[in-house]
Amino acid sequence: MPCCPYCGWPDDDPVTTVSRHPGAAGATVWTRCICGSLQMRVQRGDVLAVCARSRPSGHPAAAF
Ligand SMILES: [Zn+2]
Repeated sequence: MPCCPYCGWPDDDPVTTVSRHPGAAGATVWTRCICGSLQMRVQRGDVLAVCARSRPSGHPAAAF
């Protein structure tokens, strides 16, 4: 099962839905994990796939 690389939260159980933007090819949904990582998801039918995710807040890119 795909999960958050930062805290291990399962991707198919989004914690917070930030915003949802309907589109012709499918809705784009922004969600935020419990660790603060922002995830961009694209909905195609019943599938809500994670396309991109940010690092959790408080973890600057230089730390990696
Ligand atoms: Zn997380």
